[in-house]
Amino acid sequence: MADADPTPRPETLALHAGDGPRELGAAATPGPTLATSFFTHPDAVGFSAADLGEAAPHFYTRWSNPTVDRLEARLAALDGGAAAVAFGSGMAAITGLFADRLAHGDHLVVSDVCYAGVAEFCHDELPRRGVAVTAVDTSDLAAVAAAMRPTTRLVHVETPANPTLRLADVAGIAKIAHAGGAELSVDATIATPLGLRPLGLGADYVVHSLTKYLCGHGDALGGAVIGGADALAGLRRGQLIHGGGVLAPFSAYMILRGMETLPLRMLQHEANAAALAAFLAGHPKVARVLWPGSPDHPQHGLARRQMTNCSGLLSFVVKDDAAATARRLAERLKVISYAVSLGKTKSLLFFIPTEDILRASFRLDAAAAARYRAVAGEGVFRFSVGLENPADLVADLEQALG
Ligand SMILES: *Cc1c(COP(=O)(O)O)cnc(C)c1O
Repeated sequence: MADADPTPRPETLALHAGDGPRELGAAATPGPTLATSFFTHPDAVGFSAADLGEAAPHFYTRWSNPTVDRLEARLAALDGGAAAVAFGSGMAAITGLFADRLAHGDHLVVSDVCYAGVAEFCHDELPRRGVAVTAVDTSDLAAVAAAMRPTTRLVHVETPANPTLRLADVAGIAKIAHAGGAELSVDATIATPLGLRPLGLGADYVVHSLTKYLCGHGDALGGAVIGGADALAGLRRGQLIHGGGVLAPFSAYMILRGMETLPLRMLQHEANAAALAAFLAGHPKVARVLWPGSPDHPQHGLARRQMTNCSGLLSFVVKDDAAATARRLAERLKVISYAVSLGKTKSLLFFIPTEDILRASFRLDAAAAARYRAVAGEGVFRFSVGLENPADLVADLEQALG
């Protein structure tokens, strides 16, 4: 029976959202607008970003570009937000949002375990600008509530969080943030909009590194913030146009192209991760597997409540000799690449030594560091399970683990 609901589903949005009205004779595939930094509308826009109206024509590519616009519209539709602002990288999107929302004297609450670049920016850069930062275990609602101060303006969580795949309860934290007069931003890079829609759970902003699953092919960098129209108009003026960290139109085109297969890829990434998690859990050299889709993951219930896809990123810990195992895997793996990054079509695996990441990035207090070591041991093997036949991935790991 036909469904009367006119709102296209994610699989359809990933292919069509942001494409303009069809015209007879138009190209079936809108090409990228690449080789121009400006457009010939000199009278239509003033020279101040404050003059930028909703319907302003394209004028200069740092302000807007048709291909980047199309990507922003598609991202906003997939995340259920009014608007999106694309940046040149995930870090540019996140630090742009922080710069927009946090001023001297304000306070930020952030996940104590998250993407290393974000952790280091929060420890090293924000305090120099007079922004106080409290890093807490955002899988613990009471810890988040206890970290709130009258000056807290933003709570920023990553879920699932790199590299332990710990989850944060988005709806629960949104309530705590809003009760304290703060906003909530969620880094949903690992989940993608196919796995988690934070705005629908009460978050004010979603951020993505487009470099990962959204692009999917490991050949473009990008980032985006999705949220309400007014807040994002300010972010665009202050941090994108003036900050200048814009997304290159060719990268926008590559990301749009990658997004056409995002829903299909995420289904296969999740299915392959389930197969590899089961294999690794039964391997004699593996101590534990961290993947929210596993029924024995401590937060599996939360995963089932708030996620529609558990993604293809898992981590595992070996029983002994982690550094030697890392060397062996780097030398012996043939299908899986021993490499950083995640979310690519092809499988990637990388060892993240506990003492290094604690010292350089997370800088946890003694109790939190002890909790991290209890989960991560000497280090986690972060495994971005790709789209290969899972039997070949199992065989590759089996021969390399020995
Ligand atoms: C990669 C990543 C980032 C940073 O994105 P870039 O595009 O590399 O700048 C931020 N958050 C998470 C969770 C990531 O995986």
